[in-house]
Amino acid sequence: TVAVEILDQDGVNRALTRIAHEIIEKNKGVEDLVVIGIRTGGAYLGEQIQQRINMIESVTVPFGSIDITMYRDDLASRGHLAVGQTDIRFNLDGKRVVLVDDVLFTGRTIRAAMDAVMDLGRPQSIQLAILIDRGHRELPIRPDYVGRNLPTSRNEQIKVDFDEQNIPRAIYLLKG
Ligand code: 5GP
Ligand code: MG
Repeated sequence: TVAVEILDQDGVNRALTRIAHEIIEKNKGVEDLVVIGIRTGGAYLGEQIQQRINMIESVTVPFGSIDITMYRDDLASRGHLAVGQTDIRFNLDGKRVVLVDDVLFTGRTIRAAMDAVMDLGRPQSIQLAILIDRGHRELPIRPDYVGRNLPTSRNEQIKVDFDEQNIPRAIYLLKG
């Protein structure tokens, strides 16, 4: 396997900071804004984005996480995604929900995450922030905020490297 560095730590940090600014700009501030990260990588990145929004706007935007897992016996078909542990300690009614994940691929995880969010309340909108969009969508889902568009072949993989404190350190493309 060959690993090609796509973003180094400065690159990841700049992408996350830009996304935080874009979220604030698109929503004309942070009123009713909440950030929800998809475990595990999306939750780590969501926290990074939330911290940046907090810094920029001098606020504390609510942060929560959800876990979307594949049923083991459906792994082959990639057909079925289940909602696991959820940690959202705030009301979602009327909120602008920003979903965060590390890598966007077929879109099935995001579909399941949107279902889970809508089961918890009635947000005014759901937006999607993604660090790497690797293509191959199978559903009509597109991100609102993207760190980097990276067309991949199906057998390539993105590695999102986190340090011991779950701070993103680098992004690699794994070939072969
Ligand atoms: P999807 O449901 O869109 O097919 O896949 C997205 C989910 O699978 C994300 O939660 C992401 O973490 C994971 N995923 C899909 N492809 C990759 C990849 O190439 N690298 C990593 N790190 N995660 C991936
Ligand atoms: Mg994931």
